[in-house]
Amino acid sequence: MRRRRNRRSTSRTRSAGQRSALARAFGCARVVYNDALRARETARSEGLPFPKTGDLSKSLITEAKRRPERAWLGEVSAVVLQQSLRDLDTAYRNFFDGLKGKRPRMGTPRYKSRKDTRQSVRFTANARWSITPGQKLRLPKIGDVKVKWSRTLPAVPSTVTVVKDSACRYFASFVVETGPEEVLPEVVPELGIDLGLGHFAVLSDGTKVDSPRFLRRAEKRLKKAQRNLSRKEKGSRNRNKARLKVARAHAKVTDARREFHHQLSTRLIRENQAVAVEDLAVKGLARTRLAKSVHDAGWSAFVTMLEYKAARYGRTFVKIGRFEPTSQVCSQCGVKDGPKPLHVRVWTCRGCGAVLDRDINAAVNVAKAAGLAVPACGAQVRPGLVPAPRSEAGTHPTPQPSTAR
Ligand SMILES: [Zn+2]
Repeated sequence: MRRRRNRRSTSRTRSAGQRSALARAFGCARVVYNDALRARETARSEGLPFPKTGDLSKSLITEAKRRPERAWLGEVSAVVLQQSLRDLDTAYRNFFDGLKGKRPRMGTPRYKSRKDTRQSVRFTANARWSITPGQKLRLPKIGDVKVKWSRTLPAVPSTVTVVKDSACRYFASFVVETGPEEVLPEVVPELGIDLGLGHFAVLSDGTKVDSPRFLRRAEKRLKKAQRNLSRKEKGSRNRNKARLKVARAHAKVTDARREFHHQLSTRLIRENQAVAVEDLAVKGLARTRLAKSVHDAGWSAFVTMLEYKAARYGRTFVKIGRFEPTSQVCSQCGVKDGPKPLHVRVWTCRGCGAVLDRDINAAVNVAKAAGLAVPACGAQVRPGLVPAPRSEAGTHPTPQPSTAR
């Protein structure tokens, strides 16, 4: 089996000519994307059949180049334009999958703007791009771009994506085919994961994982930069400076978050033979809008990593639908004792008397629903660590040593 993998390398383009050639490529890719989106939305509103990618490629790329108002499309690699149409296909597929409940719901694909912070173009093998003997990236109709390599590529890459981020940094990421030699030796533990609100993730072995300090610090700096920006007068030069600062801080947060997701997902996949999570599309329905917007982006990126790393390293990955509300069922004895308000973090099971931690109980239930073998005792709160449930707090102001009943 062969797998695809992204390798990310930083590149800084030195030449202004290359920068404007890249800007042209970003622009043309965006125009083709928007033209195709308009064609499809028009067809949809008029009740006509959904235009096929092949037909759009003909009318919006090949034929459009012959018209004076789109002639400049010929100045960039045609592959870049075709890949842009494929990106739109992906956006529609995600949208339709969301309608079917296969993934979190999202809106229809939206038009791209020149002002979007992230611009990208993709060159496949058809584009005849290459890496020169001098380790530069040779891109058709752009030139030999200097690259600061973050690591060596393990094999010949098939595709390169060039991204310009909101902080005006350029990145090149490569798709490389790798062999099956990465399958890890088998291990015993199996794991359920609850993606919670209080913690980033709670594991069925009782571990609660919070985002690391480097990420929290980056987030704090971003908030400060955003506050600073909101105080600046519109149109002033200081506001522009502050805006770039926000963009940089934002890029740092994104990088730090991705790094955290990578570290955690790699560790969990290495240490466990099987990993189970709840389907986010199902989970998301139970949450408030705010909580969703804060967490979902991070979670789905993290879950995607778990999934592809499990495949790469020969581990089992299971996504379960919520057929049983995980916080309503005791993970020890299976008694279902009804919904509990969010502030109830710990409770005593009426069936078996176990003192349960809400998040860990949920993680154990996720693992069980996925058919994994996890020790259930993890969900029990250790004696001595039991915080008094809110309803009971204060009812026994001076606990008496119970020597007699
Ligand atoms: Zn119980």
